[in-house]
Amino acid sequence: MALGGAAAIAVGAACAATGPARAQTKQSQADVQYVAKAPAGDKCSGCAMFQPPEGCQGVEGKISPEGWCSLYTPKA
Ligand code: SF4
Repeated sequence: MALGGAAAIAVGAACAATGPARAQTKQSQADVQYVAKAPAGDKCSGCAMFQPPEGCQGVEGKISPEGWCSLYTPKA
């Protein structure tokens, strides 16, 4: 009983310690070298993470369908 409680507290503390960094799943546009105009043929509208009309699962802020970033993952 007592050990189980201690383990739960330890896990909770570990989560709290890493929480702020881990809770934010999206990265900033600067971190992923986002550009509003894709330099090549690969663009956000063809990326698996694009969320129409102007969003992205992995990157913060307004994302253009014509944009691109280093996380680009072609749709399957
Ligand atoms: S290329 Fe980057 S910004 Fe564009 S949809 Fe994909 S992950 Fe998001």
